[in-house]
Amino acid sequence: MIRIVTLSPFDPGDIALLAKTLFTAFGLGTEYAGERPLPPEAEQDDGRYDAVKLVAEVNPVKTFADDKVLFLTDAELSMRKGPLGEPPCWCFAQYGGEKAVVSTSRFPERGVSEASIEAWRKRLARESIHAVGHLWDLHHCYDARCAMHPSWSPSLPASPEAELCSFDRDKSERKVRLAKT
Ligand SMILES: [Zn+2]
Ligand SMILES: [Zn+2]
Repeated sequence: MIRIVTLSPFDPGDIALLAKTLFTAFGLGTEYAGERPLPPEAEQDDGRYDAVKLVAEVNPVKTFADDKVLFLTDAELSMRKGPLGEPPCWCFAQYGGEKAVVSTSRFPERGVSEASIEAWRKRLARESIHAVGHLWDLHHCYDARCAMHPSWSPSLPASPEAELCSFDRDKSERKVRLAKT
């Protein structure tokens, strides 16, 4: 089961559609589990939230074995600096673990036109599949059409597809099947 938890107000229609998309992508029941406050411990002086700390400190959600929790926020996230500086942070996932967070702060603006709402929802779906994919042990993928392609990659199209490539789809199906038995 995938549990979606919002850390800021979201449109219920956006969440309902995302739950459907995640169900289709992973074959796992997906449910909205309500809103929680952002953990103040994770807030930095610059107003951004430390992604690793956020996921560790946020109020726990009741889960059962193999449940995955996806947190959604519009707050900007930060990552610890790597050798190439700080990577732009779209999401953070406990690799092979339980919890992940996706930030909408880098998305194209969710305007009022149908096209702009559709583009925003597609991006939310893409980044959420990416984050949940990491929770199911998926690595980054070279295929720029695959949702597991890095979000910061220069070869990522402006409006990337919200789908896994067949390799990653097979791998996640295998992992989900193993977890269910
Ligand atoms: Zn990633
Ligand atoms: Zn892939």
